[in-house]
Amino acid sequence: MSGEPKTLDQFDITGRSALVTGAASGIGLAYAEVMAEAGAKVTLTDIDAEGVALAADRLTHEGYDVRWDACDVSDLEAVARAFDHHVEAYGGCDIAFANAGLDVGDGFWSPEDKRNPAGQIDVYSKEKWDKSIGINLTGVFHTVREAARVMKANTHRRGGSIVITSSNAAEVNEAIVGVPYMAAKAGVKHFMRHAAYELAAYGIRVNAIAPGPFVTNIGDGWVKKNPAAKEAWDKLVPVGRMAETYQIKPLALLLASDAGSYMTGSHVMIDGGMQLGPIKPLDD
Ligand code: NAD
Repeated sequence: MSGEPKTLDQFDITGRSALVTGAASGIGLAYAEVMAEAGAKVTLTDIDAEGVALAADRLTHEGYDVRWDACDVSDLEAVARAFDHHVEAYGGCDIAFANAGLDVGDGFWSPEDKRNPAGQIDVYSKEKWDKSIGINLTGVFHTVREAARVMKANTHRRGGSIVITSSNAAEVNEAIVGVPYMAAKAGVKHFMRHAAYELAAYGIRVNAIAPGPFVTNIGDGWVKKNPAAKEAWDKLVPVGRMAETYQIKPLALLLASDAGSYMTGSHVMIDGGMQLGPIKPLDD
């Protein structure tokens, strides 16, 4: 034990800096919050400039060292600019979360429990396909590309940690989620493994968090607006409920910090057991 780092000290990221995409809301906002809580300086970025400015202002008001940038992850130049601004402000980039994503809708099965005509593959909207792939897959490539560029140039410390938000949709098929989301998240999983393989020699770790159903604003926040939909999702999970975003924070910190120093290329499920099957309740 002597000479080894203390376990809890390995979670301390004081003095490091993190950039998060899609940080105005939901899981990305939770990542930004836990990075700040654990001592990092944080850039929150989002396509929603007003929302991300509000989130950053709140965190600044709470005493954290954060800044924000408007950034659409489907635009490579915008992503490159956001990383450059981050490095100018904080002198390097140790941690990056490639998180921004969305569901463009139209699964082949509807929440009303019948076939959804617009979700059938032979008529599926090409615009929706391109939009989903452009953000959920190409947006992740843009973010990892630019994170790798600035992390290779880190002079204050070697390497870095990149965390991608994947989905349980990379592992299991969900009939009410649109087909491009399935393809994008499965692509994200294998892309993450390839990036981890390539970047390991530079001291850059790459992992993915694969959430099950979390209560966020995804799909226009439809589970927040629709208690029946939430109840239906609760029943799809063996632990019996959808997750709240605070529940993703410890895993995000593990992967981002030295506590995860031997983890790279991992696709970590946090889904209440959803991939196992729906809840099997007790008799009473
Ligand atoms: P959310 O809608 O609450 O947050 C997503 C954020 O991404 C929003 O602030 C939005 O403005 C931003 N965004 C959308 N398009 C963008 C773009 N082109 N460029 C930059 N920012 C953009 O949703 P969430 O659930 O927190 O989603 C975050 C990630 O988690 C996504 O990658 C999503 O696929 C993934 N995920 C969510 C769930 C879930 O159940 N909520 C499950 C599995 C995976």
